[in-house]
Amino acid sequence: RAYNLNAGPSALPLEVLQKAQEELVDFKGAGMSVMEMSHRSKEYDEVHTEAIARLKKLYNIPENYEVLFLQGGASLQFTMLPMNFLKEGQTASYVQTGSWSEKAFKEAKVLGNAVIAASTKENNYKNIPAFDELNYNADDAYVHITSNNTIFGTEWAEFPDTGDVPLVADMSSDILSKPVDISKFAMIYAGAQKNLGPSGVTVVIIRKEFLETASENVPTILSYKTHADKNSLYNTPPTFGIYMLGEVLKWVEAQGGVEAVAKRNEEKAALIYDVIDASNGFYTGHAVEGSRSLMNITFRVADEELEKQFLAEAKEAGFVGLNGHRSVGGCRASTYNAVPYETCQALANFMKDFQAKH
Ligand code: PLP
Repeated sequence: RAYNLNAGPSALPLEVLQKAQEELVDFKGAGMSVMEMSHRSKEYDEVHTEAIARLKKLYNIPENYEVLFLQGGASLQFTMLPMNFLKEGQTASYVQTGSWSEKAFKEAKVLGNAVIAASTKENNYKNIPAFDELNYNADDAYVHITSNNTIFGTEWAEFPDTGDVPLVADMSSDILSKPVDISKFAMIYAGAQKNLGPSGVTVVIIRKEFLETASENVPTILSYKTHADKNSLYNTPPTFGIYMLGEVLKWVEAQGGVEAVAKRNEEKAALIYDVIDASNGFYTGHAVEGSRSLMNITFRVADEELEKQFLAEAKEAGFVGLNGHRSVGGCRASTYNAVPYETCQALANFMKDFQAKH
């Protein structure tokens, strides 16, 4: 197995892939793959219902929330959210902490009056704003944040309490990486392809009271109510992806649950941040302390030539996906739930050796 540090899609647990391989052509004696089954069959229904129930339990999702499995990636949520909840005469406030929040804001502006609640763009998105820097209105349709900024490598360590103003988070790149007080959020959404499974499934966790306020004047397939009313079986869901997601959830359970995974994520990230911090400036982290992501570790190497050499040698040594996002350059190690401790250790050692050599 490669040392897979891809930002997304990213590593899946080997055990999950092996189980899927075993069951690929004959799922539980049905004589067919789960992806060949009717989405209305009893067998598939079990996979679907179990995955929803398992996520609710694992992530401590309160009773008054729905879990939906949608398609179109997190990017479609950028559109669906304002389409359903941003009504005429209202504003929605967006906190800008990176490229994905910019994209979410851009889509909201197409559909209504979206405004910026705070932005750390001037600081090249090195930090998450302080709670008292957030400017939103008491009658906003919602406040939108990006809990982890995949490209810049920053993450909200804590979440603001927005009171009666619905808080919505794009958690694509840190969902299920640590325990979260779900009750703070009116809605959470995430593409599955980092911590939850393969791409093709988008998870939405939505408070029922918030859902009830959704506009009725939304195309059927883009309405959250449609999917909630039909238990995410309004049309053909991405059945194989949902099956895989269910297996990833079982794996998280077997690891000891979200708390155990969070502890390991902290240890994994610390291996790499410690090398950066002890390098006397040979490596420079992009994110400021306090805003550092445990999922995407972004850093630069001393100078451009050495950085090229670092990336080339790392590739040679078997590390995959270490190049920073094409929009910012540099290096990025994505250390999602399924990335083994050993991979992070190998990278930390490689970084130390590279520095020693140069
Ligand atoms: N939001 C965040 C934080 C992301 O990291 C990504 C993808 O990397 C997206 C949104 C876009 O997700 P998708 O490709 O599922 O549309």
